[in-house]
Amino acid sequence: MKILVVNAGSSSLKYQLFDMDENKVIAKGLCEKIGIGAAVTHKRPGKPDYKADVDLKDHDDAIALVLRLLTDPELGVIASVNEIDAIGHRVAHGGKLQSSMFITDEVLHYLESIVGINPLHGPPAIKGINACRKVMPGKPMVAVFDTSFHSTMPPKSYLYALPYEYYEKYKVRRYGFHGTSHRYVANQAAAFVRKPLESLKIITCHCGNGSSITAVNAGKVIDTSMGFTPQEGLPMGTRSGSVDPTVVTYLMREENLTPDQMDDVLNKKSGLLGVSGVSSDMREVGAAAQAGNERAKLALDMLVQSTKKIIGSYIAEMNGVDILLFTAGIGENDRDFRQAVCRNMDYLGIAIDEKYNQSCPRGENVDLSAPGSKVKVLVIPTDEELMIATDTLNLVKNN
Ligand code: AMP
Repeated sequence: MKILVVNAGSSSLKYQLFDMDENKVIAKGLCEKIGIGAAVTHKRPGKPDYKADVDLKDHDDAIALVLRLLTDPELGVIASVNEIDAIGHRVAHGGKLQSSMFITDEVLHYLESIVGINPLHGPPAIKGINACRKVMPGKPMVAVFDTSFHSTMPPKSYLYALPYEYYEKYKVRRYGFHGTSHRYVANQAAAFVRKPLESLKIITCHCGNGSSITAVNAGKVIDTSMGFTPQEGLPMGTRSGSVDPTVVTYLMREENLTPDQMDDVLNKKSGLLGVSGVSSDMREVGAAAQAGNERAKLALDMLVQSTKKIIGSYIAEMNGVDILLFTAGIGENDRDFRQAVCRNMDYLGIAIDEKYNQSCPRGENVDLSAPGSKVKVLVIPTDEELMIATDTLNLVKNN
């Protein structure tokens, strides 16, 4: 069975075509800068990448191009679109929808009704779905939500201590994000240590350009660091993470900022970029810190400290932890970050082999724990697209 996974952003569209019988990706790529002088990169294993500047005015054009590339006599991997059995869409926010599901008119209308609480990621996901529906009508389509893994959180974890009526009226609550990644790596970690997920307390640190940490007890999320939006929790590439909410109202008054301008400060000008003044990219901030830039060093220290704090609080919430794991761009690749987070955590039973941490292979599951460490410390590469393809396959097979 062949499954196309589509991940539509505001001006981008990522795709991967899986052959689920062979368990492999047969083509993948990215359309970027949609509507503003677009470019496409199309990759097939073992073959040279195809890159081109293209004219894509919207997501409809992008999907049409993806299908042309996939079926192109020279660049393609399938003879016709009919070979695609189903499509899995990454949808960041599922609101009340708690598991992956077929996209019906009703589901689509519901997603449209919640764009107010998901203004950045909602509209592009809907555009991606609509574009696919237009060119592949009747093809099974599944939505996989970043929020759904977190739907097991109890009210004491997901509610904010605001007047209860705002939860009732506007559904203001913690939803959590990156759920597809947290679910994938938690399952992978359990398989890696050969124990049932239901027997484990796991803390999953998804640290990338966006970052979140999740506490998974017996396979169920009990808490997560991102909230109503992906803004809460850790400092990120350009997001502030958690701040005293009064700082926001104070700055709006002092700087005469509109809500949109304030959102912009919190989302696009803060985090690593805001503190370091250098970059939102961890590698560049790391290089600047190495070269002696004090603010870059401070930004890294703040990220490490916030990560430790959240890990510590989740250990307290779960009364222990069996596995602490790192994933995503920073978690999988930044050895110094992992070392700094895990240092001086022996009181909590966390100790890594620092030498191995500096030399371990990339791109595979790795156990960093020092001998005698009570907690297993792992690096587990994430694969959200595979999780989306797997959910899609399971729904289609069982339908
Ligand atoms: P993601 O959003 O998961 O793609 O992660 C992007 C982040 O991972 C960026 O901040 C990158 O700088 C960081 N990253 C990627 N590779 C490395 C690396 N080799 N060392 C340090 N950070 C990295």
